[in-house]
Amino acid sequence: MNKLLSITILLSLILISCNNSNKNKKGEHSDKELSKQKTTEQWSYSGEFGPEFWAQLEKESDCGGQYQYPININTTNSELITNDIKVSDFHYEKATEIQSVKNNGHTIKYNFISNENTMTYDGGKYLLKQFHFHSPSEHTINGVRYPLELHMLHYDNGEYLVFAIMAQQGDPSETFEFLGQFLSLKQGETKTVNKSQQLSYALNESIDGALYNYRGSLTTPPCTEKVNWFVLEKPISVSEEQIKILSISMPINNYRDIQPLNGRKINKIMPLATN
Ligand SMILES: [Zn+2]
Repeated sequence: MNKLLSITILLSLILISCNNSNKNKKGEHSDKELSKQKTTEQWSYSGEFGPEFWAQLEKESDCGGQYQYPININTTNSELITNDIKVSDFHYEKATEIQSVKNNGHTIKYNFISNENTMTYDGGKYLLKQFHFHSPSEHTINGVRYPLELHMLHYDNGEYLVFAIMAQQGDPSETFEFLGQFLSLKQGETKTVNKSQQLSYALNESIDGALYNYRGSLTTPPCTEKVNWFVLEKPISVSEEQIKILSISMPINNYRDIQPLNGRKINKIMPLATN
């Protein structure tokens, strides 16, 4: 696939997320939803506060719901969709200033003051709010669990759109080299970044493969079932060292077990760049 196209797509994604955050009702709602997610601190990935108890711990949450995350992507069972996403739907900036990175006890999360990385989808304009990691991956693809999964979380008017990118061990990634320089972080620790990076590079490697789309939930309590998931089949390559640098600042195995589909369909979008 044309590299320029890939870059354009990635940049577009990044741009979408920030536009909506600091204006009108949409922005307020967005911040409220996200802070609600942040204040839920009692849960964990193991022991008495582990994923199997999330629904009990968070009575008001969707954690015991029917459309939960994550799932196994069975690529041979997916229904093919064409012309669903176009290159013009993605609007990513050439460079995005990352404000800070935090170890919140559950993951490593990079935040922005503002950005203009957006994705338009199904009538919504989704702005990138943050990105974070899981090690190993939460999604499995045909039963395969990857060493790392990157989540790029976009938001618009009460709905989320998340890109899930798998990473496998191989050549080092330039983007991960940049991100890794601010690690490691102790639990609860935040570091100021205030440096710009072309975030689309992280997606660039995998955007020319298939995408798998399904309706699911937020990855952590309150497990809100308002997420359009896009799982990229083709993993990006990162070095063993880069995986280690991220993993040591996160809880061991910060993933939730595979959830039942309960009749949900997985849509295959292929190929993204030529639609
Ligand atoms: Zn996540």
